[in-house]
Amino acid sequence: MTNSDTPAVQITDLGKTYPGAAEPALSGVSLSVLPGEIVVLLGLSGSGKSTLLRHVNGLETPSEGDIVSLGESVNALRGQALRALRGRIGFIFQQFELVGAVTVLENVLTGGLATLRGPRVGILSYPRALREKALGHLDRVGLLDFAYKRADTLSGGQQQRVAIARALMQDPEILLADEPVASLDPESSGQVMALIREIAAERSLTVICSLHQVDLALSWGDRIVGLRAGKVVLDTHTEGLSREEVMEIYGRVATTTSEIAALEDELAEAREQVLSREMQRSATRERLAEDFANEEPA
Ligand code: ADP
Ligand code: MG
Repeated sequence: MTNSDTPAVQITDLGKTYPGAAEPALSGVSLSVLPGEIVVLLGLSGSGKSTLLRHVNGLETPSEGDIVSLGESVNALRGQALRALRGRIGFIFQQFELVGAVTVLENVLTGGLATLRGPRVGILSYPRALREKALGHLDRVGLLDFAYKRADTLSGGQQQRVAIARALMQDPEILLADEPVASLDPESSGQVMALIREIAAERSLTVICSLHQVDLALSWGDRIVGLRAGKVVLDTHTEGLSREEVMEIYGRVATTTSEIAALEDELAEAREQVLSREMQRSATRERLAEDFANEEPA
């Protein structure tokens, strides 16, 4: 466990430019996350949320800057040392990333693979203790009854809860979640977000979760870090924010502006459709009127 004064994650001047990209995906990002903090990375699509999360566990190599996760300098690690660090950091994805054709239990068990040697096929190839642990996590996420069902028969919300159970198999100290509810309906989203918070509290996890919805970020996170075009434009605790400060957050990540733009596009399209229908109708009316006018009186 990490000392509570030492950050769980310390990012200093992180810059990332993907090969061939004209603009950096991240530039000058510095961020310190304390153990047990629940942080939302808030930003529009393309603002750099996934890129930032993927640097925390060494899935990306920075172009500039340093990342220290759980006291380890991520960029310096290779091979077994990097795998060991990744084992302490759970990751949840937008698209769940389960193996659809195998059982829910087996999906959860794969989360414990780092502790085993060699590939495993079938539930019985896992040690009994791991199977019991996996069933315990499935019970915790409310899906014990689904253990022997094929993963692809579950709803999206259930699949994401399976992915949470799978991440718990590593006994992670940090949980990274990349837009974990972007593919879910509002009800399942609420359940999954609540579950992440409960589990984080039970296990004193540090959580960094990316989201693109300001409302959800405000109601869920203790702290919001806003990204825009690869830069940190906001870093604030959510408790006691005034209405003005909330509006400021909307403005900074430009959510409202872009949503309005998208809505306007839709409206313009709808208007065009109505207009063209209107024109067709008036053309029809004219033709009808002409036909009537040309008709011989009875
Ligand atoms: P977000 O998760 O907020 O939508 P990303 O981190 O995925 O943002 O992307 C940030 C920027 O980096 C975008 O301009 C995106 O197109 C670019 N990008 C992301 N991943 C790659 C990649 N593997 N190769 C090249 N460009 C990438
Ligand atoms: Mg993303």
